[in-house]
This record gives sequence, C-alpha cells and structure tokens, in this order.
Amino acid sequence: MTQTRLSAQLDELARRDLIRSRRILEGPQGPRVAIGGRDYLAFCSNDYLGLANHPRINAAAIAAVQRFGVGAGASPMVTGHNALHQRLEEKLAAFAGLPRALLFPSGYQANIGAVTALVGRSDAVFSDKLNHASLIDGARLSRAEVTRYAHGSVASLARALAASDAKVKLVATDSVFSMDGDIAPLPEILALCERHDAWLLVDDAHGLGVLGAGGRGALEHFGLASPRIVYVGTLGKAAGVAGAFVAGAEEIVETVLQRARTYIFSTAAPAMLAAAVEESLDVMREEAWRRAHLAELIAALKDGLAGSAARLAPSSTPVQPLIVGANAAALALAEFLRERGILVPAIRPPTVPEGTARLRISLSAAHSIDDVRQLVQALRAMPSLPQGA
Ligand SMILES: *Cc1c(COP(=O)(O)O)cnc(C)c1O
Repeated sequence: MTQTRLSAQLDELARRDLIRSRRILEGPQGPRVAIGGRDYLAFCSNDYLGLANHPRINAAAIAAVQRFGVGAGASPMVTGHNALHQRLEEKLAAFAGLPRALLFPSGYQANIGAVTALVGRSDAVFSDKLNHASLIDGARLSRAEVTRYAHGSVASLARALAASDAKVKLVATDSVFSMDGDIAPLPEILALCERHDAWLLVDDAHGLGVLGAGGRGALEHFGLASPRIVYVGTLGKAAGVAGAFVAGAEEIVETVLQRARTYIFSTAAPAMLAAAVEESLDVMREEAWRRAHLAELIAALKDGLAGSAARLAPSSTPVQPLIVGANAAALALAEFLRERGILVPAIRPPTVPEGTARLRISLSAAHSIDDVRQLVQALRAMPSLPQGA
C-alpha cells in the first residue's frame, strides 16, 4: 500500500536523525521568541538587521492595506501589478545600481524564473556546489547542461568554462553562502565570465542589507558593475519583509518578465509587501548603525569563542556555523542550548552535505552584546564535541 511505503520512508528519515519539525512561535520574530509559553534567546533567523518587526515598516504595511487591501488578486500580467509595485521596482533598481528590477513574491521563484528564462536546452549552467536549492532547481528545470564546480573555486570554474562549447553560458553563485557564511570570489568569477562570454547570476539573499558600506550588498562590497550581471536580491532576510527581485540590464529583465513561468503564472505579492519593502529601504539607509552594531556582534562572538573547543567556520558575515559532523550530535548540542533558553538551529542534510551537520548561528542587529555574551557562555559550556563525526 502506498501509505505503508510512505511510513517506511518516514521511519527511515527518523532512523537517520533527519526528521524535521517546526517550532510554533507565539509572537513576532526577534532576538527573543516565545514558544510553548517560554521565551528563548534566538540565533535562528535571517533578520540580520532586526527589521522584521520594525514600527515604521509595520506602519507602512498597515497604511498600504487601508489604500490597496490585502490581496493583489491576479498575476502581475493580469491586473495584479499596481502603483506600489511599480514604484518599488524603480527604487530596487536604484538601490542595486542596475538599470531595471522585477519584483517576485519570493526568492525561490526569482531564482527559478531567472535561470529558466535565460538558458535552455543546448545551453550550460555552472553552479557552485553549495548553491541554494532554488538555483539548483532552476538549473534542472532549464534543461541546460549543469556543471557543479568546487565550492568557491575559481580554478574549478575556469576548467569547466574552458571545456564547454555551449552557445549560452550562465554562471550562478550565492554571494554569501547561506549555511557557511563565506563570500564567493565574485571579482574573479566575473573576470572569468568576461573571458568566456557568460552571464553571471549573483544570488545576494544573504548579502543585501549586510554587505557594502551602504548595505547595498555584494556588488557594492566588491565595487562590481557589468552588463552581464543578473542580480537576485531577496527581501525576507535583512530587509525584514518578504519577496525578491531580479535586476540587471533592460534586456535581461524584460526577458525574465516575458518568459519566467514562476512570474507569469503566480499571483502578485500584496501591495502591502511593496509598501513595507519601500519603507525598509529607507530604514536601512537611515539607520546605518544597524550594520555597525552587527559588525560588533560578529566580532564579540568570535572573540568570545577564541581558543575554546567551539570552533566556528571562517566567516565574516552574520552567518556563523559551528560544524559538528553527525546529525545526532548536532541535534544533541541544539537541545543542550535549548535547555539553557537559547535557540540555535541544527542544520542537517540535504541542506548541507552529508557528514557536515552543524549549528548555524545567525546574528541580528536586534541582539545586544549581552545576548552574544550569553551565547558564548553556553557554547563554552557545551559537552565536548564527539570525535570522528
Ligand atoms: C532564502 C534564500 C533564497 C530564497 O528566498 P525566499 O525569498 O526565502 O524564497 C534564495 N537564495 C538563497 C541563497 C537563500 O538563502
């Protein structure tokens, strides 16, 4: 029976410590979250600037609901696109420093839409081994030939590009890797794209708002500009809201608009989302202290753990992983912290490669230095990590 087979598959997941479950938050996202009637100090969200419950952004959403209602009602192609979406797209293009931007309801849709619109059968996609699932799925759906190059390796990418005779080539990479926190060598990757006449898709989900002097993300961080860049920014992480955009040259964005099935066949995001994001862009610019504070928190965490058994992977971003190895060990450490009132997620395969389960610590400008000290204390008190995991 089908059901029996599903139960057997679920049992197998449980046996491998891969069952996932959701915690039910009883209030807003923030440095403290309420779960089961208890408050936890949380290092789990991608709300890097602490904007997910910002009064000005909340107020902008409410005002937009009063003018535009809650539902967009249709695909953007069929009356779902309104004045707030249009104005936001113009502001997002200016924010990213690119000619044009197209707003999507989510980053997952934006990545799949951009990749499938730009390449097809007989083309080639070159994808970093640790890229986000949405880029992997976009590449598969595109039917292009996919080559996965070694993580962050310019040499591996160079070999793959040189060996390809595809007519159209697309290199796709996360800017900041979501589970590792390290930054892709974008200037070198862009130089390779120039040499091999390839598009470069930069997924800046974890860079936007965080990287660059003005928080404009990875392109600002590296000072990059090129008509071959396809930029994807997401708006549910540092920007604190939801949604995403694809930005780039006029022809790129118009092609995505005409061809991306995840855009054409999906209801537009509510206007309140556009209004909230617009306000968030202003807050990000005006409250530059949030980025400075975040940098202090990252330094405090690293300093606090220096010389301890809790060794963080190298990362200069708010994503600070502590790689454990075995799934059960990562779960046990997360539980150890939870009993002490601290939430840090245990991340397991397939989100990360087999044998690299980890605690993924993420910091937010809404944390205080004291919050980080508390985390450091708990991490230093962790039972010793199992060997050979
Ligand atoms: C979260 C994430 C996405 C997906 O964005 P959503 O808006 O959450 O759908 C895409 N790429 C990366 C690297 C991400 O971390």
